[in-house]
Amino acid sequence: MTTEGIPVWDIEEPDIDLGDLVLEDENDALVANRTREMKRSVHAWLCFHSGLFAEWGLTHDAVDESAILSSQRMQSEGHYRWDSAVETRRSAMHSLRTQLGDEITPSPIIFDAEGIALGYNLPGFSDIPEADLRVFNERFDGDAGCGYESWGDFCNYYRNLASYLVYDLSAVLNILEDLLPDYLPQIDQAWVERQQNRHYRQPSIQVVGVHCDRDRTVDQALSARELGRLVRVHGQITMLSPRKTQYITAAFHCSRCDDPEVQLVPQNRYDDDMLFPLPCSVQGHNGWNLLEPPESTTISIRRALLQSAQVNSSDSPAVLVEFQQELTDQITGGEEVILVGYVRSRPMNKTSKRDRNREVYLVVTGIESNSVQTDVEVLPEEREMVMEWANARSFRERLTELTRSFAPPIVGRDYVKHALILQQVGGSSLAQRSDIHVALFGDPGTGKTVMSNYSLSLSPASRYISGERATIPGMIGGQSTKSELFSSGDKKVIVPGVLASVGPGGIAVIDEAHFLDKGGKDLSNELNTALELQWVPLAFVDGGKVVTKTPVLIAANPKKGNNTKFDPLSNLTFAQQAGMKDSTMSRLDVPIVMIDNLLSEDEEEKRAIAALMNLNGDFREDNPDSEILNLRFMQCFFSIAREYSEVRMTPDIMRYMAKDQVKSRLGRSDGDSVSNRRMNSLGRLACAAAKLSFSNVVTKEHADFAIEIMSKTLMDVSPSAAEGGKTMQQSNRDEAIWNALNTFYAITDKSQFNMEDLVEGIRKHWNDVNEGDVPKRDSIVQAITGFLSTGKRHPQNGGLRKSGKTWGFDNE
Ligand SMILES: [Zn+2]
Repeated sequence: MTTEGIPVWDIEEPDIDLGDLVLEDENDALVANRTREMKRSVHAWLCFHSGLFAEWGLTHDAVDESAILSSQRMQSEGHYRWDSAVETRRSAMHSLRTQLGDEITPSPIIFDAEGIALGYNLPGFSDIPEADLRVFNERFDGDAGCGYESWGDFCNYYRNLASYLVYDLSAVLNILEDLLPDYLPQIDQAWVERQQNRHYRQPSIQVVGVHCDRDRTVDQALSARELGRLVRVHGQITMLSPRKTQYITAAFHCSRCDDPEVQLVPQNRYDDDMLFPLPCSVQGHNGWNLLEPPESTTISIRRALLQSAQVNSSDSPAVLVEFQQELTDQITGGEEVILVGYVRSRPMNKTSKRDRNREVYLVVTGIESNSVQTDVEVLPEEREMVMEWANARSFRERLTELTRSFAPPIVGRDYVKHALILQQVGGSSLAQRSDIHVALFGDPGTGKTVMSNYSLSLSPASRYISGERATIPGMIGGQSTKSELFSSGDKKVIVPGVLASVGPGGIAVIDEAHFLDKGGKDLSNELNTALELQWVPLAFVDGGKVVTKTPVLIAANPKKGNNTKFDPLSNLTFAQQAGMKDSTMSRLDVPIVMIDNLLSEDEEEKRAIAALMNLNGDFREDNPDSEILNLRFMQCFFSIAREYSEVRMTPDIMRYMAKDQVKSRLGRSDGDSVSNRRMNSLGRLACAAAKLSFSNVVTKEHADFAIEIMSKTLMDVSPSAAEGGKTMQQSNRDEAIWNALNTFYAITDKSQFNMEDLVEGIRKHWNDVNEGDVPKRDSIVQAITGFLSTGKRHPQNGGLRKSGKTWGFDNE
């Protein structure tokens, strides 16, 4: 990299470190004393964790053992609020030997602020003579400038480090940078040699486990009063940059000198602009060559936008966050995370450098969780109400009321609601994929939109996209064209799409899916990967990917504009009529076709009454006579049901469902085989049904319910339709054409025909064996061609044969 052409006199004064201006109010004497006190605290932590007390029993192994014990105690007392943080926080209490490993590039050192404050890992008594403690500084090569009066005194200093980490992290980091090189050889002599290797770099520092009084919302974290402090923020990554190399100390050579000296320029870590050396002493030499590591010191960083989780709106506040070093590997776009970070400020952009109004952002010091499970939050009194309701009802009684209350203005079509209810709770987390994907292919006016909107409203973590406006970036993830993550702008920032942004408990709705292949675009590859693998690689960022772990609800109309209903007699499958790729169909658990035809008398009457009830206000939640469970109740019910995530099937139930599967595969007369994938879908639905019972075990009742739903889906009604083959109507029609053709052949004297003879013959004899109208010529021709290609055979006449344009039967 060369910097020729960049004017070297463009050197700014480092920006004022605002972090240092907001310390607690303290008088000057205290401030002066503070650095010394802080150094004693850091020294105390290092002494203990690097095994300096080994001769009094506090060996590396003993420190590791006490880490596990103190971690167990902290967990039992509820200090770890996210299970996923347990490992990280436990390792933070381990010895430095264990934390650092023995590679040239040491693993990060992790500080657990809460663990340090509690000090459960420190023994209550110690054999270390106080005379030794007082001069402890002499025991190691560097200068911490202190000793300790007593073991109690030492423990106080150790525990005070927690507050320094939270309120004055940058000072602690500076002290660590000074002291660590002297401490490393105390841990293991091998560090002497390793530190001399030119590729060695100091371990990075992570801080986790701040006390819950440091929890801030995204909005609160942006407040100036937090500057220079550690906070813990919960949010969702809505934009993520690729990895970049940030220069900490930049080394330069004059680009014109023959034997240039290395010029080291420490960089401002809170500003993106590179600082250059003063011009070379030779007149006219004004270019610099930047030297790569190890001459320069660099770190890897990624930046991201963190937005409040569990919000619908995309314009809610977001805070810029920066991940450094090892932490850059632990993050993907769209994830919901709990971060501990250090609040800093920086210029908003290149032109606002001298602007004293700066942007607040977060340097992440630790990731406490990147798999947060924050579902719809149920209050204790709400839980009590739901449990009381549920305990008083059988599985079927629960189901009846839930179905009635699900999208209440739609009466009837219960099987659709059943599928959507099961989608809300999802299958077992023990399965490779627990999410249930549903597709509704429906004529306009069949209630598709009302039902999908209701599904959407059941969780604020759900996301919506219309197929008409859908793009790969919008649906899956893409790159931002105008990002503000770096002051120079950055064109390769990952912006997770709708499928990658759904939070726990939510679903993704793709409405108007018949537009997905509109205008030459084809989203099916990415959509298929998102549905099946649940993560999609992003080609424009090396190693970039988005996670699309969400249940998907697809709603589609027939695609043909001038004929707004699905045509059961069409040559096209339902999926094709909706513009849906066969390959996408095969990834759906429950594809349902909703045709606007006359239903049974009973169902029609129910609908008519419903229309009147609607006028009566019966479906309004505020009507006390209404038998409808309100939306909040439904949200709480589903949230509780989702807690039963690990559902198991007994061998008996597995056998029972397998039998049904075999029956479905063998029992069909049309030769279609029900896919093996149906078994997986059936399993998911049965597990979901168990969750509705607030149970972790699938019973026969749940299995039956799953089979019942499956029998209403396209997969069972017409398996090949779900596979992208024929509609049931198509199969029936082809069979009718075949029968008419053979009737005609049995009667005629001719043995050689052209296509028109066959069409005419079928027309003439259609009503000999069939009812209703004769199919169109196109359908007949297509069917005849199909009989030839599939080798369809008649017991007497045999199969069709063709020579040139002449047709006949091969039993001739
Ligand atoms: Zn020079």
